[in-house]
Amino acid sequence: MTVASKAPEYIRRISPYEPGKPIGELAREMGIPEAGIVKLASNENPLGMSSLAKEAAAAALVAGERYPDGNAFDLKAALCSRFGVQPDQLVIGNGSNDVLELAARAFLGAGRSAVFSQHAFAVYALSTNATGAVGIEVPAKNFGHDLQAMAAAIRPDTRIVFIANPNNPTGTFLDGAAIEAFLASVPSDVLVVLDEAYTEYLGAQQRYDSLAWLPRFPNLLVSRTMSKAYGLAGLRVGYGIGHPEVADLMNRVRQPFNVSSVALAAAVAALSDVEFLERTADLNSRGMAQITEALAELSLEWIPSAGNFLAFKVGDAAAVNRALLQQGVIVRPIAGYGLPEWLRVSIGLPEENARFIAALRQALS
Ligand SMILES: *Cc1c(COP(=O)(O)O)cnc(C)c1O
Repeated sequence: MTVASKAPEYIRRISPYEPGKPIGELAREMGIPEAGIVKLASNENPLGMSSLAKEAAAAALVAGERYPDGNAFDLKAALCSRFGVQPDQLVIGNGSNDVLELAARAFLGAGRSAVFSQHAFAVYALSTNATGAVGIEVPAKNFGHDLQAMAAAIRPDTRIVFIANPNNPTGTFLDGAAIEAFLASVPSDVLVVLDEAYTEYLGAQQRYDSLAWLPRFPNLLVSRTMSKAYGLAGLRVGYGIGHPEVADLMNRVRQPFNVSSVALAAAVAALSDVEFLERTADLNSRGMAQITEALAELSLEWIPSAGNFLAFKVGDAAAVNRALLQQGVIVRPIAGYGLPEWLRVSIGLPEENARFIAALRQALS
């Protein structure tokens, strides 16, 4: 008997998360320079990070020998003044993946279950399975969450429902009224984790205020990230906002120093750069138009997306992906999400989008 064979069965069953291929890896595999590679695979911000965040991160590096503030006082203060919440409602995560996992660790375990949608963000199943709980995957409706079916799938042992809005990798969007009605239909002792990783990309008509629901729904946890629109994916900061009792439990299972001092400083500065956020959203909507126009010309089907990425159908996705990689363009195969004929592309700079479009045309010809 090997030591690995003695790990719990629920751990050994976990299928690993498949990240976007790093630029350095493709450069090594293809023997091409990194500068010639376009990566549109991980929904990163093509503008990079705000210069304010960069400066704050560099300044924080100087005191790298000190442990970070485990209570994230400055970041919590910035979030509180921005969103009108109290510090005891906050959980700061090492990326919002950490927030999702802290919710799972605090509320799940053997003999419990979590509900999430087919084609939803992979981390819901991963964090659920890592606790020994059972994941209940509810069939999607038009590639998005079927909230009625999800409510009906809740069992007596269900402790969390995960909702991604917009969802990754499909980009599907639920309007605020639908989520609010869903919250009213869920038992009050089931935590609803509303993952709003792409909320900063929503158009004016799509916006809704989930934080305003918190007083009515103490079982709501809103999860957000600094990785996407704020451009801090490499630094790892996310946050959860919920009822103080929920935040307290999650903070108890959180590593005391889970977010680095560099990341905390960058996050505070990034939050203050409203102009950067506007430029980001604006660039994204123009890039989305650029890419959907090209997909229409190529007669390809795509799922309308509310995020900074787009899923499109190519048939033999593995082959098309290979042909794109050979041309130095990295997108994301999503077969692991139950979409084997589809690829997901992140919206980049205009010239990156153009490189992707040209490479796709070539790959399909
Ligand atoms: C990218 C993403 C996250 C955020 O990941 P981080 O850990 O914050 O980098 C969370 N949820 C969804 C749906 C995502 O696509």
